[in-house]
Amino acid sequence: MEMAERVEAIRQKLNQYGYEYYVLDRPSVPDAEYDRLMNELIVIETDYPELRSQDSPTQRVGGAPLDAFVKVTHDTPMLSLGNVFSKEELVEWVERIEKDLGYSPLFVAELKFDGLAVSLKYEDGRLVRGATRGDGTTGEDITQNLKTIRSIPLRLNEDVTFEVRGEAYMPKRSFEHLNDERERLGEPLFANPRNAAAGSLRQLDSKIAASRNLAFFAYGLVSTDDLVASHDESLAYLRRLGIAVSQEYKTCHTADELWDYIETYVTKRSELPYEIDGIVIKVAAYEEQEQLGFTAKSPRWAVAYKFPAEEVVTTIEDVDFSV
Ligand code: NAD
Repeated sequence: MEMAERVEAIRQKLNQYGYEYYVLDRPSVPDAEYDRLMNELIVIETDYPELRSQDSPTQRVGGAPLDAFVKVTHDTPMLSLGNVFSKEELVEWVERIEKDLGYSPLFVAELKFDGLAVSLKYEDGRLVRGATRGDGTTGEDITQNLKTIRSIPLRLNEDVTFEVRGEAYMPKRSFEHLNDERERLGEPLFANPRNAAAGSLRQLDSKIAASRNLAFFAYGLVSTDDLVASHDESLAYLRRLGIAVSQEYKTCHTADELWDYIETYVTKRSELPYEIDGIVIKVAAYEEQEQLGFTAKSPRWAVAYKFPAEEVVTTIEDVDFSV
């Protein structure tokens, strides 16, 4: 097959899988298959620059927002993350950061929660808006659904105005309980907690979200240099304000320390009460993050180590968005 034809075939598949995953919350292939094709496409587009295209899935974040919801424009885009799949790739990423900065920075390693990215806006300490990532620029206003999540405070301990980013997820126990119930009722099962969480939050009736026992972890603050100077400080600050922050994160100085953290969670992963699909590594200081900047799709100062696949795709609920 001609290289251009191969590229077209991969793009078509990735667009179809992306639509099923992001828009329908109903994937037809395991994440590892999606990641494998995406990486093949990245390699081809690197080797054959003439085949690059602005509308390639390698250049895009997420999926289009659903028409059923009011659209929200993100002041600061909600991006994706670059991936590494091995220790060698992690070491290369760390070396690139060190080369760009001219020295070795402090990193924060944290869990990659497998749910739905959401943005929470607080004004004078009150939750005024919650939105999905959508295509990164435009998301869906799901404030009413997010207000049903107990780990999202409606009122903070201080009257601050800012935007918090984090992951809404379905704990493993809620997921098992939900699927047991659906099996009993003869209803189709959800494939995994991620799709169950996304399907629950993108329902127009917030009673459904309220019944699904969802949870939330914050993993970042947007434009708050005046409040904190680094990512680890932001996590501690958010916790003080009453927002749920996972305490499993760790500051690390070297690629070896980061790899130790990853190995710890490869083992611990099954004991956690929620699903994680990898580890996220971020350069800690905001000043250094600014210096490193962004690509079209992801920050250069962060990367995700993706765990090897362990999921199986089963029958999934048909979410009826017309209600
Ligand atoms: P991603 O999952 O690779 O990484 C970005 C996301 O990570 C963020 O939007 C955020 O939601 C999440 N995240 C969790 N914990 C975080 C933390 N501590 N800090 C920062 N972010 C954190 O994002 P993506 O680009 O939406 O998704 C691509 C992945 O989705 C693919 O690698 C694939 O595994 C999966 N996918 C699967 C299919 C399929 O058909 N099976 C289709 C599309 C995408």
